[in-house]
Amino acid sequence: MLYRSTRGEAEGRTFEEAVLGGLAPDGGLYIPHAVPQLDAATLAAWRSLPFAALATEIFSLYVPATEISKEELAGLAERSFSTFRHADVTPVHTLSEADKLRVLELFHGPTFAFKDVALQFLGNLFEFFLVRRNSKKAPGEPRERVTVVGATSGDTGSAAIYGLRGKKDVSVFILHPRGRVSPVQEQQMTTVLDKNVHNVAVEGTFDDCQDIVKALFADEAFRKRYSLGAVNSINWARILAQTVYYFYAYFRSTDANDTPLTFSVPTGNFGDILAGYFARRMGLPLRLICATNQNDILDRFFRTGEYKKAADGVAQTWAPAMDICVSSNFERLAWYLAREAAVEVPADMADPEAFRDREASAVVAAWWISLRDYGGFRVDERVLAQAQACFLSAMVSDDETIATIREWYQRTSEAGAPYVLDPHTAVGVKAVAKLRAERQDCNELAICLSTAHPAKFDEAVRSALDGHTVSTFDFDAIRPAEIRALAGKERRCEAVPQADVQLVKEVVQRGLAAEGVTV
Ligand SMILES: *Cc1c(COP(=O)(O)O)cnc(C)c1O
Repeated sequence: MLYRSTRGEAEGRTFEEAVLGGLAPDGGLYIPHAVPQLDAATLAAWRSLPFAALATEIFSLYVPATEISKEELAGLAERSFSTFRHADVTPVHTLSEADKLRVLELFHGPTFAFKDVALQFLGNLFEFFLVRRNSKKAPGEPRERVTVVGATSGDTGSAAIYGLRGKKDVSVFILHPRGRVSPVQEQQMTTVLDKNVHNVAVEGTFDDCQDIVKALFADEAFRKRYSLGAVNSINWARILAQTVYYFYAYFRSTDANDTPLTFSVPTGNFGDILAGYFARRMGLPLRLICATNQNDILDRFFRTGEYKKAADGVAQTWAPAMDICVSSNFERLAWYLAREAAVEVPADMADPEAFRDREASAVVAAWWISLRDYGGFRVDERVLAQAQACFLSAMVSDDETIATIREWYQRTSEAGAPYVLDPHTAVGVKAVAKLRAERQDCNELAICLSTAHPAKFDEAVRSALDGHTVSTFDFDAIRPAEIRALAGKERRCEAVPQADVQLVKEVVQRGLAAEGVTV
């Protein structure tokens, strides 16, 4: 299995190149040359596998044994998912049997957010590649290393830090806007004291932090000298890791491998739901609901075929991890849609499949030029029909999000098992209800991906439940011991008094020197 760019100018790349490279050289995203197709016997054999063993099987279809042996993949999977607190890693919880509604809890990892599933794996992969490269070096030869630099408005930073802490030959610098991430998120990041972890609190906004990171990567000399690396949500290994829980939840929730199932996914950068799309292409009979908040570029696309940036920029909502202007991973779906709707292949074409691949890349490249230059593009009816064959979508407002947290707390309390949805999960739950009200064909079992523990989003949860109709609610009772313990822990964080690239460069240089790294 090799990888190509969605924009067509890179192909035949190895898994290692795709993972360490992140973005393809032509600005596109890496996708596999072909999506593995599962036969009935394979699916049947997978049904009873524990999570890490299932992950190993899936990974081995996308990573040739010549690159990473199956035993090594098994070791990586075992280590990556053993940090989860639940024996099932990602358990399914029934919200209401009568409503055919379940939640897939993705928040049992170290930082109580779904991003742990992917970043625990990615951290181990980075280390694996570096250890292997360095083991081939002669004594005295300089070691290869990676300096991961990223900006966060909250969840990505903490999951990245927990994925990379203590990893050999990897340093990580995470910039956050000082005082503008939630207290829990700030505590999670800054209480990690491993030598290779550096938190940088920038006086400014999240956009300032992102601009600084972009400037560091754009500085060729700096990027090369410090071997900068990224762990963005566009990294192929993150998508791959996320496919596992679609299979796992499907097997836990059905009796046969041809039972249709709907997954509702609270969506921002389209990484989580894209993994479901790959699971479907591999052979699971899934339908996907793209659930957005008020930042609804994707909902508008799936309804109209127009992908267009909102005129008024990003809105702040109760589900901040989904506050996006454009969705970075959407480009991968666009490639598959363009390929399927590709025009007739000329009869004399020697390799029609390769022709379709090239067509898809050309179409995607043009769409993304239009997005850059005109703020959007519109796809034709065949492409939209392809999208709608697999995806439904709904937009959920802030008021609906809060009402949904309250509604389900009340209903589950009455049933004797109070359950608190986090605001992102509530968007996914409400999207199912809205679509069922709107259409006749949505009554099969729906599984909503629960992307964060409610204790991480105290403001939203408290405004839904404190002092309202539910008098018994006690926020402290839902706070896990691990989160409570953070407040008393020692912290380490470097403050940068203004959003200035030079100042951050100096922090990186000092931080690496403090680790004893010479470059
Ligand atoms: C990142 C995140 C999302 C959105 O996931 P995408 O892959 O960006 O679509 C949803 N909920 C939470 C809690 C997140 O951290």
